[in-house]
Amino acid sequence: MSTSQQDQRHVWHPFCQEQTAPPALPVVRGHGASLFLEDGREILDLASSWWVNVHGHCHPAIAQALADQARTLEHVIFAGFTHAPAASLAEALVRALPRSLEKGTGLDRVFYSDNGSTAVEAALKMAFQSWRNRGERRRTLFLAFEGAYHGDTFGAMSVGRSSGFYGPFEDVLLKVRFTPFAETWLDSDEKDDAGVQARESAALADLDAILDLDGARLAGFIAEPLVQGASGMRMCRPQFLRAVCERVAARGIPVILDEVMTGFGRTGTLFAMEQAGVVPDLVCLSKGLTGGFLPLAATVASTAIYETFLGQDFSTAFAHGHSYTANPLGCAAALASLALFESEGTLTRIAAIRQANLGWLAEAARLPGVNRPRALGSIAAVNLGSGDGGCDYHSSLGPKLKARFLELGLLVRPLGNVVYLMPPACITPHELARAHALVLEVLHETAPLYAPA
Ligand SMILES: *Cc1c(COP(=O)(O)O)cnc(C)c1O
Repeated sequence: MSTSQQDQRHVWHPFCQEQTAPPALPVVRGHGASLFLEDGREILDLASSWWVNVHGHCHPAIAQALADQARTLEHVIFAGFTHAPAASLAEALVRALPRSLEKGTGLDRVFYSDNGSTAVEAALKMAFQSWRNRGERRRTLFLAFEGAYHGDTFGAMSVGRSSGFYGPFEDVLLKVRFTPFAETWLDSDEKDDAGVQARESAALADLDAILDLDGARLAGFIAEPLVQGASGMRMCRPQFLRAVCERVAARGIPVILDEVMTGFGRTGTLFAMEQAGVVPDLVCLSKGLTGGFLPLAATVASTAIYETFLGQDFSTAFAHGHSYTANPLGCAAALASLALFESEGTLTRIAAIRQANLGWLAEAARLPGVNRPRALGSIAAVNLGSGDGGCDYHSSLGPKLKARFLELGLLVRPLGNVVYLMPPACITPHELARAHALVLEVLHETAPLYAPA
């Protein structure tokens, strides 16, 4: 049986309506920004394979580190044992994360798990239990941004329920308050769009009202810094994120930044929080952590949070762990990926991608029905259709566009009516220029679907 036949008989794919989704495409090989299909076609991976790939597919330095580690220690229980890759990676992450100058403290404790959802789940549980450990039992609510996405486990679904994916689970989710996210986008000469300050002021006033009403019952605030990924690459200004975090922190509520998508250079700095000058109490890392090779995640906690779990008996301990916690292969891949940021000038490459994207966005924004051009780091996005139409997953536009992009050799997965590009940092100027031209062509030919005549 072929891969395709076996797959169609026995595999259940994520985020798919299996009855109507086209058959999954068998991929046999990856190299640089390209994927090679069984039928010989080459596809340019402009989605970084669901936002995980950083330096390109099958990067030889990461592959080598993995092969070496696989012959040395593939895995070991992480309760009561440790190993060099996990300890070195923890040190490297703590060193790479920003520290608070005023408080003189930083994110000093690395708790490992294996995907973005578990990193979020661990952070929510840490924030929650930290209050319990201090004898504070009233704090049973969480605060999140409208439109947030934090993963698909129950805690993560709860704080991301406004993304609209979780209707069937509504009755069994945690109690969460949602505060507005003040979106922004570029106008043609890269200035802030006109209404942004008004939107920010209104959002902060709403936040103040929530904090006045429920501040004493909030166990934590979680946010995707600067870019809300899954709800349509919605971006905010660094000063807005900072103002929100300051208001939350002023009430003693722990700030959790979910850098699962934004981490590891995606927004132009190693972490998005650097641009906002915010040092949270907890940060969630995954996706790009291993450069896109293996599932691994880290929830990094401040010393203050960590210390609330210390005691003479098990009752205040963090009773949470996963079989593959701190997998040595994953940690070795992560160390190799971090080293590439230096040796390959990854952030410089990402700055060049953004520059090229700005030129492309200016052209795209001249097409009918193309709105809200925005760019940050290696991410560029536009909305198709009416200016205020958010990301509509039920729109039939996405699948049509996706199919057309694939015909042209591009992996571009619109989020509803939002078309975005997020290539790995290794994409060449030539590849990116070709992608830009082809995407413009598709927007041209599909305009009748979303642009009023
Ligand atoms: C993808 C994502 C998650 C979930 O990560 P998984 O590895 O898919 O579980 C959480 N938060 C953000 C911001 C994400 O983009």
